[in-house]
Order: sequence, then structure tokens, then C-alpha cells
Amino acid sequence: MATRLYTHPIFLEHLTPPGHPERPDRLRAIERVLEDEAFAGLDRVQAPEGDEATILYAHPADFVARVRAAIPDEGIARIDADTSVSPKSWQAAITAIGAANAAVDDVFSGRADNVFVAARPPGHHAEKTTAMGFCLFNTAAVAARYAQKKHGVERVAVVDWDVHHGNGTQDIFWDDPSVLYCSTHQMPLYPGTGAKSETGAGNIVNAPLAPQTGSEVFRDAFLSRVLPALDNFAPDLIIISAGFDAHHRDPLAEINLTEDDFDWATGQLMQSAARHSGNRLVSLLEGGYDLQGLAFSVAAHVGRLMKG
Ligand SMILES: [Zn+2]
Repeated sequence: MATRLYTHPIFLEHLTPPGHPERPDRLRAIERVLEDEAFAGLDRVQAPEGDEATILYAHPADFVARVRAAIPDEGIARIDADTSVSPKSWQAAITAIGAANAAVDDVFSGRADNVFVAARPPGHHAEKTTAMGFCLFNTAAVAARYAQKKHGVERVAVVDWDVHHGNGTQDIFWDDPSVLYCSTHQMPLYPGTGAKSETGAGNIVNAPLAPQTGSEVFRDAFLSRVLPALDNFAPDLIIISAGFDAHHRDPLAEINLTEDDFDWATGQLMQSAARHSGNRLVSLLEGGYDLQGLAFSVAAHVGRLMKG
């Protein structure tokens, strides 16, 4: 198995206010842990700049223009109470999209079996016309539509194990049965969406987790809801919205997973990708706010991607 890793120094230049959990140090912690010789076999590639036109696969032009207009010449500007932008945020967001789209190209061309994109800002809270929850554009949604348009595939699945519900991805694909969206997330928790009853065009599968639950409940949700939905849908590509804030150390939520759970979930999705999508698996970093919990979880995730 060949596993590719996309990173770029521009991802450190998307700045948030002091004390904000979604901070550049998250990527520094990931970089450090992946320096271990266990990861010497990673195919490390600098993320390419994205094609701005592909943002329109998931967002209307007037919204894109509004985000662009919010970028300050200096300092930090707020889009909402949680979501802010700095002078380099546009370039960081575009490069995150460029990396995700390149990862899609890689798994379809056979340059890689699977790819992890260590980028920020994250994307899964960005709705069609709303930037929110630390997210500007929905990178996973753009990449899913990019796979359909560029590689002509019919069905793409997005599996989101970030501890927050990916309201943005759900919003974008709500009436699009060509994309399956499956999410495990704590409920109640920000942003408030993600009930089991939210099913879109039959293509939305929400598996809410009660606060203070952990490995057993998470794995049961995967086995009873997420994996059967994937088997039923038979995607041509699986995209993971890989947030690691369900880790027990994370300060933003109360789900008690360990890095072993992310290793296990990665393995389950790899088996699903082997059954349905020629192993094609693209993983995009979303949340994860305790630096140690994040680093260890990413190491478990990427280690499993490499091992097959
Ligand atoms: Zn999250």
C-alpha cells in the first residue's frame, strides 16, 4: 500500500485569535509525530494550489465572493463568533481544496492507494452559503463533487467521525442521492444538527453519540449504521472527514475515544474501500484540539492507512 501525505506551510498562516482551539500548533503537533521513523515510508508531497473554480462545485459564487471580501489586509477579522480569517486564510483554504482534489486524482490514477491531507482551515461545518464553526469552504464536499466531475464516478461516500456533526456536508448533499453522508458525533453538541431523523434523500445517515460514551458505543454505531450504509451504497470513493476531537483528552467534547478507536475505524473503512471502491480512500483533517490527543490519533490513523 502506498500512502501519500499532503501538507503545506501556508496552512500555518491561517491565523485565529489568541486562545482559539483551531490553531496552527495543531499542524505542528501532527508534523512532529509523523517525523518518527515509523512514517519514513509516507509519500510526502507539498499540496498544490487549488483551482478556485472548483469551490463552485459546493458553494454559490456570491458566497465565495463574500468570504473573499471578509479577508483582512492585516490582523484577524471575524466571520462569526467562532470563525475568523487572517490575510493568508484565502490562500490556505484554496490550498486545502487543492490538496483534497489532488488526493482524489491520486487514488484514481493509482499514484496512491490512500491519502491523508493535513490541512487547515477545516471544512465540514461550511454550508452552501454559510461559513461557520472554524470552516470557510467545505473541502470534503468540493472533493466529492470533483471526483464525480473529473473522474466520472457516480457514487461518493463521505464518512465523518469528527465529534461535531458535519452540518455543512449534510446541507450541501441534502437532496443529492449520489453522495452518501454518514456521521458519528456527540449529541447534544455544536452545531445542534445530526439527529437520526435527518435523512435527506435517504442519503444521510446520522449516528449521534450520547455525552460520556466511548469506544463501545462508537464502534457499535459504526458497525450497525455506518458500515451497512456503505455496503448498501457501494461507493466508488470514500472520503473521511477525519476529526479527532472525539478523543478523550479533547477539551471541546465529552466522547471518550482513544487512538486505538481511530486505528480500528480506519481499518473498517479500508475494508469497505477494498470491497467497493478499489481501495480508494481520501482522508481530510477536520477537528481535534488537544495537541497530544490529536497527534497520537493522527499517528494511529496514518499508521493504519500505511499498513493496510
Ligand atoms: Zn469537531
